[in-house]
Amino acid sequence: VDRIRVLVAGVGGRMGRLVAETVRAAPDLLLVGGVDPAYAGADLGEKVLGQRSGMRVDGDVSSAITRCSPQVMVDFTAPDAVMGNLRGAIARKVACVVGTTGLEEGALEELARLCTEQATPAIVAPNFSVGACLMMRFAAEAATRFEYAQITEFHHAGKKDAPSGTALATAERMSAARAADMQAPQPERLALEGVMGGQVGGIGVHAARMDGVVADQRVVLGGPGETLTIEHRTTSRECFMPGVLLAVRHVFEQEGLVLGLGKLLV
Ligand code: NAP
Repeated sequence: VDRIRVLVAGVGGRMGRLVAETVRAAPDLLLVGGVDPAYAGADLGEKVLGQRSGMRVDGDVSSAITRCSPQVMVDFTAPDAVMGNLRGAIARKVACVVGTTGLEEGALEELARLCTEQATPAIVAPNFSVGACLMMRFAAEAATRFEYAQITEFHHAGKKDAPSGTALATAERMSAARAADMQAPQPERLALEGVMGGQVGGIGVHAARMDGVVADQRVVLGGPGETLTIEHRTTSRECFMPGVLLAVRHVFEQEGLVLGLGKLLV
């Protein structure tokens, strides 16, 4: 069987680098190129993977696709870059696996339309780790049984968006599982601006940024006389790789836009 040809967008970043290494090590996948404007023209191996590869990093998705004919593009870039990359890839019928978070409002609707128009599938997941996926599933189930909920997420200091895509997706899934909003009592006097966090359907969402963490999240639900805490901790970015590989291997079996890994984890 032919190996799946994979292009990595954001290949110079924390996630992109690891994805490129992981794809290169997978016997059924072929790393054909990388895109990252900051590394354009550099040797992909030397700059990104630590040894010469003879493969050049491209500065934009279009030229990378022309040069290396990928079947799948994996995108771990930035909120202001991702849609341009995806438009370019889907227009050329390259299937997409997207981990970038903080997408602009309306982006998913546009993406769904493009996927259908071009008959090209895409998987967008705010979190490719199995544990986080299950955390979201459990939190949505618990949300129907409690009247109060708070989500606190912790991420490394370099993260560009807040709250995390995972926290937002968790809150949205919990909210969608319920008929009514959670109770969200507001104290009469607030001595500090923003202290109650953001709100999604009465669920408080709080973000913290610091060195020492990769991506952690705690969901606390409250009811009469009890609380339930669902906690997920990431100790290294490797936790995202099995999910990324799963998505790359199965994206062609999907139709249109698929949100989250849940469908692939049954
Ligand atoms: P990062 O280290 O900042 O990497 C992003 C890389 O993309 C940077 O090298 C950046 O270059 C590059 N880039 C910018 N514009 C680009 C473009 N148009 N085409 C190609 N590359 C471009 O960030 P990260 O920590 O790897 O995270 C990347 C994204 O993945 C974030 O949105 C993060 O939230 C998300 N993430 C998702 C998951 C998940 O499981 N879904 C897990 C972890 C992280 P410059 O630095 O020069 O701008």
